[in-house]
Amino acid sequence: MNPIHAQNARDPYAPLLAIDGLEVEFRTAEGTVNAVRGVDLELRPGEVLGIVGESGSGKSVTAMAAMGLLPRSASVRGSVRFRGEELLHLRERQLMPFRGKAISMIFQDPMTSLNPVYSVGWQIVEAIRAHQDVSKEEALQISIELLRKVGIPNPEDRVANYPHEFSGGMRQRVVIAIAIANNPEVILADEPTTALDVTVQAQVLDTLRTALEMTHAALLLITHDLGVIAGIADRVLVMYAGRPVEIGTVDEIFYNPSMPYTLGLLGSLPRVDTDGSEKLRPIPGSPPSMIGKPTGCPFAPRCPLAADVCQEREPELAPVNAQTPSHLAACHFTKQAHDRGISLFIATSVDLDSASENLATTAPGSASSKAPGSEELRAPGPGNYVLAEGLSPAGPGGYETAPDGHEGSGATGPADGEETTP
Ligand code: ADP
Ligand code: MG
Repeated sequence: MNPIHAQNARDPYAPLLAIDGLEVEFRTAEGTVNAVRGVDLELRPGEVLGIVGESGSGKSVTAMAAMGLLPRSASVRGSVRFRGEELLHLRERQLMPFRGKAISMIFQDPMTSLNPVYSVGWQIVEAIRAHQDVSKEEALQISIELLRKVGIPNPEDRVANYPHEFSGGMRQRVVIAIAIANNPEVILADEPTTALDVTVQAQVLDTLRTALEMTHAALLLITHDLGVIAGIADRVLVMYAGRPVEIGTVDEIFYNPSMPYTLGLLGSLPRVDTDGSEKLRPIPGSPPSMIGKPTGCPFAPRCPLAADVCQEREPELAPVNAQTPSHLAACHFTKQAHDRGISLFIATSVDLDSASENLATTAPGSASSKAPGSEELRAPGPGNYVLAEGLSPAGPGGYETAPDGHEGSGATGPADGEETTP
């Protein structure tokens, strides 16, 4: 038996991918960048785990470290195991059976994954033949079927086209076809829809969902957009300044967010249960520099609940309460954050707008930390956020598309010409 499958034979529920104590530093002229400061996560078979956080929070570096794709300037500590086998510090050659076969990757810009000088068919054939013992003709037939399944119209003809002959969304579908060509167990997708127009984003997400149904692969989905996570993830890990600051099921994160940063992310998302007249409220301030190590909570300078203890000690990730051991948050004031809900930031922004008052120094729980007249706003659950313009959610975990009917399920494919070739 293939040694990488040995552990699975013993325990089908064992995590496929397990990351423990991952730390990544870059030595730069400006100082040491502490890009990842202790990530622990498990990805179980068939699960979709979303990693969300603002730009620079260490999401991509975490993924690149897991796949051995970081530059030499990176120093990496911790453990990354696939089915129990340590991947960190393996040589390129030793990583070959994992990359592109057991674990496949999808990046933000399809042009970085596709070679502009070869037809897409040639590229899928090569991907298949790198890991499967089939003839070119067989591989070409498989490629055409894959293109059909990811919703490329007329795949028999399109297979001969070059990447530049496809639109951005169609190119990303080709990348998804390559990602599933060898029946991976894990798909690692880093901002797969970020470069696309908002309406195309949902189509590509839908294709990704179809790809998961076909392969039963687990997905690690990295995005800065909680709206993308809402419709597809089972669990969510929120990252800030190189560390997980909250982790839980999608319902725990959307209905009971308990770390102020998560509340801020939710409060800044467009919603479908409002009339759209209110302003979106971005979290005030910007993420910290990753050079050097923080003394207190890195989110404290932006946090309406911040108190002295937050400047002094970085909070540990701990269970939010005894009933939900899977829901962890890193905050000295988890309960206050949970009780305030997304009104924490909305009220703060209103207050800042009207009085230009800096609430960052207000002690948590004190009477003055409540904006005058602010009612407690609860987070409304994953179904209430707008995934992309022209889309409306269909309850938790699902969404509908714009009523133009052009959205394809992926299995049948969208109507031809749904996207125009540039
Ligand atoms: P994101 O969450 O947006 O994916 P990244 O994981 O790409 O963030 O980056 C995390 C931090 O690491 C950022 O501060 C980034 O500037 C830094 N970083 C990433 N790659 C390098 C590198 N090769 N050299 C130095 N710093 C880097
Ligand atoms: Mg990134």
